[in-house]
Amino acid sequence: MRKNEKNFKIIRSPLALQRLSKKILAQGKSIGLVPTMGALHKGHISLVKKSAKSNDVTIVSVFVNPVQFGANEDFAKYPRRLQTDAKLCAESGADIIFAPSSKDMYPAPLQTYVRSAIENMYCGAYRPGHFTGVLSVVAKLFNIALPSNAYFGEKDFQQLHVIRKMAYDLNFPVKVIGAKTIREKSGLAMSSRNEYMSCEERVAASSIYAGMQEAKKMYKQGVNSVAKLKKIISEKIEEAGGKIQYIEMANKNDLVPVKTKISKAAVILLACYFGKTRLIDCDFLYYPR
Ligand code: AMP
Repeated sequence: MRKNEKNFKIIRSPLALQRLSKKILAQGKSIGLVPTMGALHKGHISLVKKSAKSNDVTIVSVFVNPVQFGANEDFAKYPRRLQTDAKLCAESGADIIFAPSSKDMYPAPLQTYVRSAIENMYCGAYRPGHFTGVLSVVAKLFNIALPSNAYFGEKDFQQLHVIRKMAYDLNFPVKVIGAKTIREKSGLAMSSRNEYMSCEERVAASSIYAGMQEAKKMYKQGVNSVAKLKKIISEKIEEAGGKIQYIEMANKNDLVPVKTKISKAAVILLACYFGKTRLIDCDFLYYPR
């Protein structure tokens, strides 16, 4: 048993965690926070390990945040398995799981929200209110857990961007750290939502990564037309039976859309459906190539 496993704690009360975090900081220790919605997989665990490497104390929050789900989305069926998550976290070097209930986090409806200027772009165009829900809960988590460093995956690139920008714009004393996407052998990005898919859909969904790889290859060979690169990706996904919701290219640093030609580091952002499961992914087009 590792040292962490013995002292590992599950905390449910925001006030109790905030008090503990203040004590930890008063001892001159650093806190790493990994916000998640649980049903942890290797993608989440890579963030936990990254945090445990660089911080004295690692807190993993597990909270399926109702405020970031739309009325017709999967809040009710989102997988929940706290005990398994806790075991995985303890084995991976985390010290604390923060697992509040909705009532703990929202004792009364919020009258205060954090909003992003790009909340209606990319994923936000199809999930009204989603990023307001994400930013508002992450602001609360930052104020409860008092992290020195907070870890987010690049898979959810728009989310990583708006959180990083929130911390910068609103002077949160937190370093927001991005971590690379962990994929299955097939190239499919790991996601708690992958378990909604049938085996066939899961195999077909590897076309997302294949499409992005093909576009990257063409880009390296000189193709910099956004329309052409998008077409390469959409054809691969559609051939495999996927339905595109959107594919966009944006500047990597500020997420300003690139309409015609790639002329600086860019990110491919996309969402698509395999069956009823909505998947998102991203990849980078570096410049110079
Ligand atoms: P979620 O539980 O889906 O809200 O994700 C919690 C955190 O884990 C977010 O910062 C995600 O970007 C990150 N994450 C999810 N899937 C992956 C993955 N496959 N690789 C790396 N990070 C991930």
